[in-house]
Amino acid sequence: MNFLKALDLHTDNPGVSTGTHWFPGETEKIVSASPVDGRVIGSVFSASEAQYQQVVAKAQEAFTIWRTWPAPKRGDIVRQIGEALRQKKDELGKLVSYEMGKSLQEGWGEVQEMIDICDFAVGLSRQLHGLTMHSERPGHRMYEQYHPLGIVGIISAFNFPVAVWSWNAMLAWVCGNVCIWKPSEKTTLCAVACQKMVAEIFEKNEVPEGVCNLLPGDKTAGEWLAADERIALVSATGSTKMGKAVAATVGQRLGKQLLELGGNNAIIITPEADLQIAIPAAAFGAVGTAGQRCTSTRRLIVHETLYEAVKDRLVKAYGQLKIGDPLHPDTHMGPLIDAAAVQAYHAAIEACRSQGGQFIVEGGALEGSGFESGCYVKPCIAEVAFDLPIVQTETFAPILYLMRYNTLEEAIAIQNSVPQGLSSSIMTNNLREAEQFLSAEGSDCGIANVNIGTSGAEIGGAFGGEKETGGGRESGSDAWKNYMRRQTNTINYSARLPLAQGIRFDIG
Ligand code: NAD
Repeated sequence: MNFLKALDLHTDNPGVSTGTHWFPGETEKIVSASPVDGRVIGSVFSASEAQYQQVVAKAQEAFTIWRTWPAPKRGDIVRQIGEALRQKKDELGKLVSYEMGKSLQEGWGEVQEMIDICDFAVGLSRQLHGLTMHSERPGHRMYEQYHPLGIVGIISAFNFPVAVWSWNAMLAWVCGNVCIWKPSEKTTLCAVACQKMVAEIFEKNEVPEGVCNLLPGDKTAGEWLAADERIALVSATGSTKMGKAVAATVGQRLGKQLLELGGNNAIIITPEADLQIAIPAAAFGAVGTAGQRCTSTRRLIVHETLYEAVKDRLVKAYGQLKIGDPLHPDTHMGPLIDAAAVQAYHAAIEACRSQGGQFIVEGGALEGSGFESGCYVKPCIAEVAFDLPIVQTETFAPILYLMRYNTLEEAIAIQNSVPQGLSSSIMTNNLREAEQFLSAEGSDCGIANVNIGTSGAEIGGAFGGEKETGGGRESGSDAWKNYMRRQTNTINYSARLPLAQGIRFDIG
């Protein structure tokens, strides 16, 4: 476990931090056990409420300084974070893989995503543009500019233990905000490793204490952020259940929120699909990260003319999957995150069967040598009717539901029939089909792809989904505007005071 040493992680770690300052442990420890082999990796102290108050006070103080730094100078700090991530990509990727259970390829991929968002944010730091408008009044000028919000609270999920934080933090920082990160209680060591890396760079550049803050804890710590009116923006990634709770609390105080919640993503395979693309895309989408991506493929909607062919090829592809230690280079699929996830997987299989689903690739827990952690399961495929209750829900596990369709309109209606609206794809070489899918009458999701699976977004686009996925957009495009407040400025450089809309008010 040389990577733990290289990331300066220990058996016992302090958790709450405002940068270089780490608070002494006051409450219980969060123990991190790897789903890979069940071994305890280390522990991290979670935050007490008193420590939370101290962190927020420090963050407020830091904001008054950080917001005065020119944005390109803040960008240069983020550039250095990107450089440090390049240096530590191997070690951090291994930690992600070992603590969360995703394959090492995906662990490295997650760190690469952090590097990419750093690069994006550096460029952005010179492009926080507003518009200029022509005033209707003579001798007047009008423009808009963007200012930082203040404290951004980031609540993140276990399945992307570091990338989702970086999507938020890198943009929030170049925009001039300070951040408080409440990581998933299931992947806290990854968060401590990131905090250490960033704190070192901040110290070297004399960034004030309190710009990057870490707040480990369970959902209670997330609830503090949601309820606190000093937290200008709460960016929360996780289940729809969590998002509804956060939205209610933040909405109550009219705070800003950015929600990235559950998905129930489908691929439509039309008669004009290239199965050389469609089959691997569906398999990677369904079993990658053991089906624990918000963008995992959960539903395959296949035209009836090639339904049997797709079914046969999928069964064959599933027969080639290597399940096991995710740190082994040949492994396709590692474990689920914990015993509760395994239970949810079994419950979904049971529900599917009792609702009439027919399994063509059987599921089940894996036991024996190499599977001692109890978190390894078999990816499975069930033939279902599209409207089964279980098919409407997101089960965070490698269960793929296969269903058939007749007309493209019907396929799109099936795709849109679930409460979630994150990612969607169509496999076709037919331009008309592709454009219909992408049109206003097509997919109702935040992400709609052609000849690409549902998972694996690039950072350059705005990422997020509609309906129960929460409506937030993060990462690329103009998602940065979520982290700033817009101010419209009108300047009168004339010697008169003409009123807008020609209103007369003669006085004096
Ligand atoms: P989760 O909802 O259990 O927890 C996510 C985070 O929210 C954790 O840090 C948790 O402590 C915190 N939390 C839980 N309840 C809270 C509450 N009431 N108030 C404040 N904070 C609370 O989710 P998870 O199991 O860690 O992650 C899986 C879920 O995340 C899936 O539904 C997945 O689709 C979703 N996800 C969505 C995206 C996206 O971008 N749309 C990305 C990753 C994961």
